[in-house]
Amino acid sequence: MAHILVCDDDPGVRDLLSLTLQLDHKVTVVESGVQALQYLADSGGAADVLLLDVMMPDLDGFDTLRRIRTSAVTADLPVIMLTARVGEDDYVRGYETGADAYLSKPFDPADLDEAIETVLKRSPAERKTAREEERARARLLRQLEDRFH
Ligand SMILES: [Mg+2]
Repeated sequence: MAHILVCDDDPGVRDLLSLTLQLDHKVTVVESGVQALQYLADSGGAADVLLLDVMMPDLDGFDTLRRIRTSAVTADLPVIMLTARVGEDDYVRGYETGADAYLSKPFDPADLDEAIETVLKRSPAERKTAREEERARARLLRQLEDRFH
């Protein structure tokens, strides 16, 4: 059982995620990037995984993640981005920003479970290495796109 912080501006997605996840995990739900940052700051980073929506008003998922990675308390927090945007550019941007995993909505609950298990079983050092590998892969993809389009 892990403590999962869910951050999404869509009440339907929040309900769906918390209903599904609370069978196996402790779930905390917030409605915006600002609230997620506030919760993490107030609780001293009290979450094992953050499920982070991309498209949100005010502070979007990319900006939220950027702030998470630059704060000492949350720099190593596992973050799985969930988005309705399926463009390759977003996928690349997610990994460039420091996501541990990136899933597009609608996602298969089994894929979400697997993504959560994968990030949880890695040590912080392994997660950092995996993030750096994904970032390098994302940059390479972007260079290839720039060259061929
Ligand atoms: Mg949204």
